[in-house]
Amino acid sequence: MILENGIVRTLDPSLPISRAVAVAGDRIAGGVGVHETSLASPETIDLEGRCVLPGFTDSHVHFPTWAVAQREVRLDACTSLDETLDRIRAARATLPEGVHLRGFGWRDADWTDGLHPTKEDLDAVTGARPAALISKDYHSLWLNSAALALAGGDLEVDGGVVERDARGEPTGVLREEAAWRFKERHLTIPDDEYLEAMRSGVKLAHTRGVTCVHDKDGWLGAAGLWQRLDEYGGLMLRVWQSVPHETLPSLQALSLRSGIGSQMLRVGYLKVFMDGALGSQTAWMLDGSGVQITSGEELAEIIRAGAEAGWPVAVHAIGDRANREALDAFEQTRDVWQPRGLRQRIEHAQCVAPEDLPRFAELGVAVSAQFSHAPSDRDLAERFWSDKLDGTYAFRSLLDSGAVVANGSDAPIEELDPWSGVVAGVLRTLDGREAWRPEEALTLEQALQATCVAPSWLSHDERIRGTLVPGRLADLVVLDRDPFACEPAELPDVNVVATMVAGRWVHNPPPW
Ligand SMILES: [Zn+2]
Repeated sequence: MILENGIVRTLDPSLPISRAVAVAGDRIAGGVGVHETSLASPETIDLEGRCVLPGFTDSHVHFPTWAVAQREVRLDACTSLDETLDRIRAARATLPEGVHLRGFGWRDADWTDGLHPTKEDLDAVTGARPAALISKDYHSLWLNSAALALAGGDLEVDGGVVERDARGEPTGVLREEAAWRFKERHLTIPDDEYLEAMRSGVKLAHTRGVTCVHDKDGWLGAAGLWQRLDEYGGLMLRVWQSVPHETLPSLQALSLRSGIGSQMLRVGYLKVFMDGALGSQTAWMLDGSGVQITSGEELAEIIRAGAEAGWPVAVHAIGDRANREALDAFEQTRDVWQPRGLRQRIEHAQCVAPEDLPRFAELGVAVSAQFSHAPSDRDLAERFWSDKLDGTYAFRSLLDSGAVVANGSDAPIEELDPWSGVVAGVLRTLDGREAWRPEEALTLEQALQATCVAPSWLSHDERIRGTLVPGRLADLVVLDRDPFACEPAELPDVNVVATMVAGRWVHNPPPW
């Protein structure tokens, strides 16, 4: 098959642009090709000036959670408790009897009424049906009385916060470990519900040009869900899967190393949490505030044990203290992991002390960033981190220092939509306001490298996919126009026309 008469952006510096690309089987066969066009009857597709790019990778997604969340009540962008409750009331009216009310996306920091969530507010609109609502940053859980009752008073846990009122009664808000444990014990979703949601989710991701995800839902058994999805219908999305670091002894017992799996699904890395998040004010900060989930010494032990067994680590670090401790731990253990070629990563790296920024490149630790978080968190960051903005969401500084930066959405926190991430990285605004700290804006080339190329390096695929040169897997996306020819203001209007994985159209096959 030959896609011709368009702009092919290979993202490979040796041949950045070509007018055509040939696909043979699951591979890119050649750029312009005398050989291919001389075949007896090559299928040719007229791009009519459209643009072809390597397929997009979302480097940080909670895919099963995102997929299920597509069916839950969404509370983001509510500006008051009343508005939030109105949405919950409306959602409740459509739910079948016996089903728990689930939702996500609330952030009381966005409410202009100064109010905070309580179980009583929720009870008034949900009645006796259990309701559980996850906050926008996924670090807090808001429950009604019926849901709280499921725990029978057993709410306290190390590393968790149970908010209490003046009488010592739980308000209905749980944070961090208390929220996680409650969710694990009382809010389980049946596998079949996940599978059905993921099947639709893969299709939706294809419409957005996604050909690969780095999934973070290993803790809920995502690897097994993906495997079943593959068995039932053939998985057409590449998955680089995390698993909780606590599973390392089991992996070791089976002599499994990073990369175990198939071309579509591989288990790749251990996930660790250093701290909480910005919105819940649980990020671990150098000023002493926040929540520490893993200490630097503990992380160093995890990195060392992982490396000896052949596993890299992806460590969630939001606050400047969390990032420093994580970098220190990678530095202390570099003699163990560097010779093994492990591709370590820090997830988020939202608030980094300026003197720590160059350390990512020096150590060879990748930044797994979310470009869309910068404009969507700008108001909160200015409020909570006003004296620390120099190192916050400093994606340009990180790239310019030589760090590998991969882009993800952290869906369902932001929508799983890599193009909107690219636009956020370049424009640093989502809403018509001036760019936020424009000195940290990326070039379009940088944002695309972070979305197409850098993620494939993290999964050791840099010689297999991520660019469109001959021999690479034919994972690609067709855009309706060449974004490099657009004015910046036009970038949000660029659309995905079609998506191909392994030489097969998975979204909108031609003719277009
Ligand atoms: Zn995440």
